[in-house]
Amino acid sequence: MIRVLVSGAAGRMGLEVCRAVAAEPDFALVACVDLAHAGEPASQGTGLWITADLEGAIREARPDVVVDFTHPSVVAGNIATTLAAGVHCVVGTTGLAESTLSELASQAPEGVCLFVAPNFAIGAVLMMRFAADAARYLPHAEVIELHHDRKADAPSGTAIRTATLIARARGEAPTIPGTETETAPGARGALIEGVPVHSVRLPGLVAHQEVLFGGQGQTLSIRHDSIDRTSFMPGVVLAIRETVKHSGLIIGLERYLES
Ligand code: NAD
Repeated sequence: MIRVLVSGAAGRMGLEVCRAVAAEPDFALVACVDLAHAGEPASQGTGLWITADLEGAIREARPDVVVDFTHPSVVAGNIATTLAAGVHCVVGTTGLAESTLSELASQAPEGVCLFVAPNFAIGAVLMMRFAADAARYLPHAEVIELHHDRKADAPSGTAIRTATLIARARGEAPTIPGTETETAPGARGALIEGVPVHSVRLPGLVAHQEVLFGGQGQTLSIRHDSIDRTSFMPGVVLAIRETVKHSGLIIGLERYLES
């Protein structure tokens, strides 16, 4: 059995993760942590109560893995607490720079894994892969990411990752119309590694992204839509199963898809 603690257990993603973990025959959901919902019963059927104390919950429940879907402002502290306890960490919370993740992982005890994925949906992983491939032939690219209006960070972790992959794949960035062409600030979006990224926030959306490429007399659009948070769960389950077998810092679900 793989013993799993969910941090952010009462949130939109945390609730789905608790359900997905409880449904796996070789997983045991052993604790639920959520700062704003301590003392409340965890999601139906688990028989657990939510606590606010991650360190105490790790000590008492002895998880093999902590899964974190909390908030960009607290995730670094949660990762540090988890790794210091010698427990593997699967992180879905976005907003942390790769340099911060490397720093956190470098302080982990030998044999402990920090796994981070900006997006756990298989379709989004493929969208990023296809975008990196397209950038080799069509270097002019812009990203439009669209999310629900309560998302804590902009641009999304997926958009940052996509822009980084495009920049790496295409090598030299093409010359593009920049902020000097703007007649309203922000019109050209945020530049991530030379790739313009535009963030849309609207109620009704879940998580969506379109990567647009332009070339002579043609455009190419690669789009992914998560229309439901269950889209992330097979990836979360795979990540839990693989992370307990690995060590060090691993970024991106693609690292586990072919293993
Ligand atoms: P949410 O606001 O619905 O849930 C977050 C929960 O974390 C809340 O219940 C909150 O009380 C709790 N929380 C806050 N601080 C805490 C702390 N210190 N310890 C424990 N719990 C704490 O947010 P959400 O929509 O579930 O998203 C959570 C994160 O996951 C965001 O960063 C979001 O961008 C990210 N996300 C990632 C993926 C992915 O595939 N990687 C997919 C969707 C969302």
